[in-house]
Amino acid sequence: MNTTARNALISVSDKTGIAEFAAALAALGFRLLSTGGTAKLLKDAGLPVTEVAEVTRFPEMLDGRVKTLHPAIHGGLLARRDTPAHMAALQAHGIGAIDLAVINLYPFEATVARPGCTLAEAIENIDIGGPAMVRSAAKNWQDVAVLTHASQYAAVLQELRASGGQLSAKTRFALSVAAFNRVAQYDAAISEWLSSVDFDASQGQGESGSAPFAQSAPVRAPFPAQANPVFIKLQDLRYGENPHQQAAFYRDLHPAPGTLATARQLQGKELSYNNIADADAAWECVRQFTQAACVIVKHANPCGVAVAPSAGQAYAKALQTDPTSAFGGIIAFNRPLDGPAAEHAARQFVEVLMAPAFTPEALAVFAAKPNVRLLQIELPADTAHAAPAARALEYKRVGSGLLIQTADQHRLQETDLQVVTEKRPTPQQMQDLLFAWQVAQYVKSNAIVFCKDGMTVGVGAGQMSRLDSARIASIKAQNAGLSLTGAAAASDAFFPFRDGLDVLADAGAACVIQPGGSIRDAEVIAAANERGIAMVFTGVRHFRH
Ligand code: 5GP
Repeated sequence: MNTTARNALISVSDKTGIAEFAAALAALGFRLLSTGGTAKLLKDAGLPVTEVAEVTRFPEMLDGRVKTLHPAIHGGLLARRDTPAHMAALQAHGIGAIDLAVINLYPFEATVARPGCTLAEAIENIDIGGPAMVRSAAKNWQDVAVLTHASQYAAVLQELRASGGQLSAKTRFALSVAAFNRVAQYDAAISEWLSSVDFDASQGQGESGSAPFAQSAPVRAPFPAQANPVFIKLQDLRYGENPHQQAAFYRDLHPAPGTLATARQLQGKELSYNNIADADAAWECVRQFTQAACVIVKHANPCGVAVAPSAGQAYAKALQTDPTSAFGGIIAFNRPLDGPAAEHAARQFVEVLMAPAFTPEALAVFAAKPNVRLLQIELPADTAHAAPAARALEYKRVGSGLLIQTADQHRLQETDLQVVTEKRPTPQQMQDLLFAWQVAQYVKSNAIVFCKDGMTVGVGAGQMSRLDSARIASIKAQNAGLSLTGAAAASDAFFPFRDGLDVLADAGAACVIQPGGSIRDAEVIAAANERGIAMVFTGVRHFRH
């Protein structure tokens, strides 16, 4: 632990987790400095706190509009420790350096999101001193760490504890970037909301002092709740999806264990943009299985997936699905790769091969193929089994905007299923249906996946019509010399008409899993009964674009 007492300034509106975090900082030897409301909370929690007003020798004034706007605070945040004149100035004026700042801002966004928010309320919730401190601290990231969201506390604490009360320059820089992002986002919210104000209406209603100011307030809670992602650039890429596009790979500041961004590349050429995208698709698919599994991906779609007692057997089965497409593919295993499995896999042209570990024999096999990119991604023991998708949020750029959604983490249980046909699936069929459903989640829509005995036997991906996906899946099975008789089939979304189901039945499917929910469900169920098919509804769909 660091013994030289350092100063932490804490001034937060959202007080979530702050008492615990401040207590941990105090235990690490930080002196706590805080503004009125925050100081009171920390004192009530039994922590030793100095009020900012004591340091500035000015009371907080103007209803809190002026609290920290003072050289004693900004000097402490902005002084460069490596510049003697700066340190001399601090000393001359009796100012203490501030090493860590924890600041979150008046809740402007939440205030204006409330129906009936008045202009006066919105204005009072524009933080002035908070953003100023955030900017001072973030500008001086070489010497100061700045936290702007409660979601950052745990990881920062972990690092502080692990390294005797210090944060690495990389972390401080990432926090600084996040802080500037936050201030930009905050100012954007203010400017956007104020720009939408009907000034005359606001004045008319404002005179009464209480009448709500008419705004089209969002009805739902603002999303995302945690809107301050911090990314660190891992590497520039040679190019993007195509050679005329520029690209780079970023990862979360604190990547979730077992995800692609935690991979160690053991050998092979530099990963390309498409390699990374495909590797992610393969890895997220394979890590969900509890049994040993192998996933082969081409152009972001699985072209062979299988589970088996061993990684080697899973590979052999997965390859059978579509050996033509598997050429130049990305192969992912959720079990360590041994020598024999490596020898088998090395016979095909493979771009990237991923596994949680490689035996020395497996490494020796690939040493003779130095171009193959080997990625080792350790799967944490507690999430190795049916790990939920690792990402909290997904981002997609559209036009000049950004779509954000929570990741599709839904995991189906057998008890969620509703059998809708006269025939019930046999236990073996039920297993194949659940397996087919797990695979279909990772196939681009419209997705149709045929499976038998724990392996895919036909995959139809990315068609604009479900009917075409079904036809393609069946043609692919024929091309690979695989029989679909008695197969389980999954459809990632409901059948709008009976014709899709008929294609599956014609191909030989004996059971079907699909969300249900079409206005023509009755027609599709009748078709299944007519064709002697057992069908189950999931109640959930898995579009993937
Ligand atoms: P507290 O609850 O501790 O009294 O106030 C914390 C909030 O005050 C934080 O959201 C912080 O950003 C904000 N704040 C800190 N200094 C100033 C200031 O000088 N002016 C204004 N308007 N807000 C400040």
